[in-house]
Amino acid sequence: MYDIAVIGGGVVGCAVARELSRYNASVCVIERQSDVCMGASKANSGIVHAGFDAARGSMKARYNVRGAEMMPELCAFLGVPYMNNGALVVAFSQPERSEIERLFAQGKENGVKGLRIVERDELLLLEPKLSPDAVCALLAETSGIVSPYELTFAMADDAAVNGAQFMLDKRVSGAKRTDKGWQLSVGGDESVECRLVISCAGVHAGEIRELFGADSLKIIPRRGVYYLLDHEEAPAFSHTMFQTPTPMGKGVLVTPTTHGNLLIGPTAEDIENADNTACTNEELQKALLMAKKTYPALSLRTNITNYAGVRAHPEDDDFHIGEISGAEFVLEASGIESPGLSAAPAIGESLAALAAEKLSLTKKSSVLPPVQQKKPFREMNDDERREACKADAEYGAVVCRCETITLAEIRASLRRPVPARTVDAIKRRTRAGMGRCQSGFCLTRVMEAIAEEEGIPLTRVTKQGAGSEIAPEYIGDVLRKEADDGKN
Ligand SMILES: Cc1cc2nc3c(=O)[nH]c(=O)nc-3n(C[C@H](O)[C@H](O)[C@H](O)COP(=O)(O)OP(=O)(O)OC[C@H]3O[C@@H](n4cnc5c(N)ncnc54)[C@H](O)[C@@H]3O)c2cc1C
Repeated sequence: MYDIAVIGGGVVGCAVARELSRYNASVCVIERQSDVCMGASKANSGIVHAGFDAARGSMKARYNVRGAEMMPELCAFLGVPYMNNGALVVAFSQPERSEIERLFAQGKENGVKGLRIVERDELLLLEPKLSPDAVCALLAETSGIVSPYELTFAMADDAAVNGAQFMLDKRVSGAKRTDKGWQLSVGGDESVECRLVISCAGVHAGEIRELFGADSLKIIPRRGVYYLLDHEEAPAFSHTMFQTPTPMGKGVLVTPTTHGNLLIGPTAEDIENADNTACTNEELQKALLMAKKTYPALSLRTNITNYAGVRAHPEDDDFHIGEISGAEFVLEASGIESPGLSAAPAIGESLAALAAEKLSLTKKSSVLPPVQQKKPFREMNDDERREACKADAEYGAVVCRCETITLAEIRASLRRPVPARTVDAIKRRTRAGMGRCQSGFCLTRVMEAIAEEEGIPLTRVTKQGAGSEIAPEYIGDVLRKEADDGKN
């Protein structure tokens, strides 16, 4: 019996779990996928929005502004890459200027600091590769970029070190009220009992409401596709470059990432199947065309991969954070589309406090410090590299050549408090496979590390959980048969 069960291990669920781990309470996170950070939290723009886009008085505005305020300190505490690079929302015509002025006024009302309107000449000095068609822009100095998965993993690890339990590959498919709280069905005959539930189920939040017999909430899955360009000494833009927003969202942006890549996207397409993260040619072409408005010299020569994320767009266009009416002792963070990544720390803080109030929880007198990840090998100088190799010879084995990731780092990711168990989980924790060759070189060595650590045959190593085995038994059978046939 847990005090609190959090449904969903995205950035919001992990932020909630981390804050709850500061209280004297037993906490579990139930995630239907093979790892945390498998939903929208792994496939977004990584922008810590300043807070000028959301309508005044909305939950989005409130949580965005507070979350963005918390983010620099939180990232420093957890050792997560964060950069305060600032954002520019560019107008390309005089009618768009009035929208820029509206955003400026709205941002001030929302309490966002460091906003000003920049005229064309200054704008082109700030960002020389910007289209000369730009008229003016809103500069948001407090906007930043973060690694969304590293933030999620670090919060999950910190929660786990402080007592939260993570149950992966468990989908909550039913909920029964008991005299002590709730009994959640999580597959087969298994169930989890708890006093209070917090739903952080992303694009599936509406279905979770239904499980608890509460009023439904319509969530429209809205997909966006991206181009990721290889990292360079200096990405083409230092600021996050937005276009003037439309009713479908913030438009296609061009932004550096915390690892020095250039990211282009996302589009906005309403889809039926919330789990469909396909990148269609049509949307990719749209993204390219729109991005060229900002960056006319854009070339796809260094495009290393494409991906898509699905926003949980609530019909009423605002976050739902708090108690679910009609379901006792069930809280939620639903309809958390953008700026949900920016808002996550604030949502965690607020929902944990509400849960503590409802269950009369007290704060722990002390908490364990976060597990500090070692400095990445690729960022070490020669002396540091020599010392690292002396202490652990596996630092001498570079597994991913594109990103310079060593076997020691891959092993460490398999031993984190919420450990990597799949190829993609290692990729997101270490960057092995994120480079130009997209794991063409390192895949087999990463698979070997997983097989060794988990004590399983290579045939059971998966890309991202059951059903995604990379070298399943039957391939071995086929190869053996081919070899035999060749011999005969
Ligand atoms: C294209 C795109 C761009 C974005 N850009 C930005 C940005 O730049 N800045 C920003 O602030 N925000 C951005 N966002 C929004 C941000 O990514 C999301 O708001 C945030 O990731 C939501 O986190 P979450 O934890 O609520 O959802 P998710 O990350 O989707 O996590 C929900 C989890 O719940 C699990 N789950 C669902 N149902 C069940 C069940 N029945 N049982 C168990 N587990 C379940 C899922 O498997 C999933 O892991 C963007 C989103 C998208 C899609």
